[in-house]
Amino acid sequence: MPSSNPEKEVVPEIKKSNKKGKRKRTESNWIDNKRKVLVNSGQEYRSRDGSVRSKKVLGPVCPETCKLKCYEKFDLETRTKIFTDFWKLADHRKQWDYVNKFTSKVSKVRCTTETPSSRQHNVHYFLPLYTDSNSNTPERVRVCQRTFLGTLSITGRIVRTAHTKLSASGTTLPDNRGKQPNIPKINDKTMVHSVCDHVASLQDALARAKNINTNKVTLDKKLTIENMFSMYLDWDQLSNYSNKAQTCREYKHIVNKYMLIERY
Ligand SMILES: [Zn+2]
Repeated sequence: MPSSNPEKEVVPEIKKSNKKGKRKRTESNWIDNKRKVLVNSGQEYRSRDGSVRSKKVLGPVCPETCKLKCYEKFDLETRTKIFTDFWKLADHRKQWDYVNKFTSKVSKVRCTTETPSSRQHNVHYFLPLYTDSNSNTPERVRVCQRTFLGTLSITGRIVRTAHTKLSASGTTLPDNRGKQPNIPKINDKTMVHSVCDHVASLQDALARAKNINTNKVTLDKKLTIENMFSMYLDWDQLSNYSNKAQTCREYKHIVNKYMLIERY
């Protein structure tokens, strides 16, 4: 690469500052772009602070203790091809798309145990496997996190970034369709009132008097949300409300959002 350091170049006196500034900008854009290409294609590069970042290499596969036995499904040759294909994309967006295509966010909690604040996700990881040599479409085979990250030689941070980009853009890739957690949207006031009034009615007279005009309820600790929901469906006052919770999930969601339950 020929030296084009602007400091060393003879710049004409006329319009000196203007020209020099423009040249410097072009130069630094060019260096940034070149670095970007190197970073995105996994090659060695010199970071802005001058330190050298070594090129990406294929990471290790999981140990034999792995329940998914990734090491049996993906040999070194296959993993090398996946690694090479990934870094050949040489573009952040395409790499995020790849990560989103081969990961699925799965809701960790179930109706019976969750509270809205405790909702969490597991990530399921997959890698492409060409099982049929005549087919151009790979099978999506489940692997553990370690094999996924190691084979692509990426960190968990990139997976999280890819997921953020996916939800920010609002597009959903076919592989993730239907796998996003389905959090009920409750914005019907009548429905909320019907549930809150019902939960309040489950208290004994003393507790009801104590908690009146608050969102607190005092309930027997043996009363589960499923019991409460089935009592709600049989509640003689329910017909007074034009809208009601249809599922235990909706019922529970409202209880968790609007009520503070004390147990005795
Ligand atoms: Zn594994």
